[in-house]
Amino acid sequence: PTVYARPGEDGSVVSYRARYDHYIGGKYVAPASGQYFEDITPVTGQGFCEIARGTAPDVDRAVDAAWAAFPAWGKTSPAERAVILNKIADRMEANLEALAVAETWENGKPVRETLAADLPLAIDHFRYFAGAIRAQEGGAAELDQDTVAYHFHEPLGVVGQIIPWNFPILMAVWKLAPALAAGNCVVLKPAEQTPASIHVLIDLIGDLLPDGVLNVVNGFGFEAGAPLASHPRIRKIAFTGETTTGRLIMQYASERLIPVTLELGGKSPNIFFEDVADAKDSFYDKALEGFTFFALNQGEVCTCPSRALVQRSIYDGFVADGLERVGKVKQGDPLDLSTMIGAQASNDQLEKILSYIEIGKAEGAKLITGGERADLGGDLAGGYYVQPTVFEGRNSMRIFQEEIFGPVLALTSFDTYDDAISIANDTLYGLGAGVWSRNGSQLYRAGRAIEAGRVWSNTYHQYPAHAAFGGYKQSGIGRENHKMMLDHYQQTKNLLVSY
Ligand code: NAD
Repeated sequence: PTVYARPGEDGSVVSYRARYDHYIGGKYVAPASGQYFEDITPVTGQGFCEIARGTAPDVDRAVDAAWAAFPAWGKTSPAERAVILNKIADRMEANLEALAVAETWENGKPVRETLAADLPLAIDHFRYFAGAIRAQEGGAAELDQDTVAYHFHEPLGVVGQIIPWNFPILMAVWKLAPALAAGNCVVLKPAEQTPASIHVLIDLIGDLLPDGVLNVVNGFGFEAGAPLASHPRIRKIAFTGETTTGRLIMQYASERLIPVTLELGGKSPNIFFEDVADAKDSFYDKALEGFTFFALNQGEVCTCPSRALVQRSIYDGFVADGLERVGKVKQGDPLDLSTMIGAQASNDQLEKILSYIEIGKAEGAKLITGGERADLGGDLAGGYYVQPTVFEGRNSMRIFQEEIFGPVLALTSFDTYDDAISIANDTLYGLGAGVWSRNGSQLYRAGRAIEAGRVWSNTYHQYPAHAAFGGYKQSGIGRENHKMMLDHYQQTKNLLVSY
């Protein structure tokens, strides 16, 4: 199709249940609170199903179910777990359209992205960790003729995982794949804005895992997330979300000294050096596309290149060409395959972005394009659409320093290489960065000098499973992706034997 049918309409590839309870011990379980909240699609602003409102007793129940499953699951062999993870991947691949449309409907992002990026990456992630766990080896050191120290990897036990709404399925899979591969049982709390996507996934793959290995408790941060992060019987908490929430998670975890993985916010610089404009060739074109990436996923990406730094000697021409490109990025119905920018994930997020646009104007930044809520007509008028927006200003401004998480670019110029690096690093965050240049040694030097966990050179927004991802400074603690992630979900047992 060129436009996917909406859930609820004839021909839709997704059908939701009217209501989703918690998924605990392999069954759907009603919330102890007896309460439900509405799940709203940002495409039209209408509710489409009800979600159980989780509280501490639900978390207790899920943690119990996970521990009940752990003795058997923790003893399965890496090969057995790999078979299951590969089956999950196969099942997701066979149902890719349904999962992609579900994510689009609930999050508002274009279906061309969910089909081409979010879901294929999630599927590959399960396959990658299925391979990684089989390739993992223990070790032995001979201490003397009669004594050997062996080391083994052991799962942690029951782990808690709390995820955001910007890539509902991918963010879950980034955490689930390594945790399950390593032999842990999981209690997952989806974001309150996008729980149904997780349940569409569970309906599809739940039967492939033994009951209790994967449990889902829905609900809000303080009601369901906090009791999970501070639960006395979880052995680790992995969190993706805002830096302010990350600080709370670390406080909860400090009470019981459990490890945390924190994937937090960002304010990533995208640097364009003057040699980019040496020729108006395919490389120049690629750099212009890189300039538009602040609007990709509606700017709701932790690595959103939300600050563009353009060298002064090429500033006017490059920015003019870049803005022309931004004008061609088609905004529309997320279920239309030609749409490149869809809706913001929630009304709160829309309001937050619009308020930052006002902040930008008030602090004297120059609004070059956009700046308004986008009215796409029909029933999309009730949805949460914002025009791609570009401001010109200084790095000290709030719109340059604070994460907006929307399609809002803060643009500035620099004179020298050293200026570029110092502006790039003048932020509390250190998650992503982009550098564009035809000079390989300049790319390398900049890549090493920027304080960020991921620097893309002459590319952006690629997230392969085997490249470690995570933040410097206030963008987080620990890494995701890459086989090193297994270490974050395992203990090392050293067994010293005298024969
Ligand atoms: P958020 O921190 O508000 O919420 C994230 C999750 O935490 C949700 O499930 C929420 O219910 C839960 N939560 C909120 N308060 C809690 C509490 N007190 N205790 C336990 N759980 C709590 O973040 P958000 O607005 O949903 O997500 C957007 C943020 O996520 C952005 O800052 C973005 O940069 C970040 N993000 C980071 C990465 C990364 O890998 N670094 C990836 C995606 C998103």
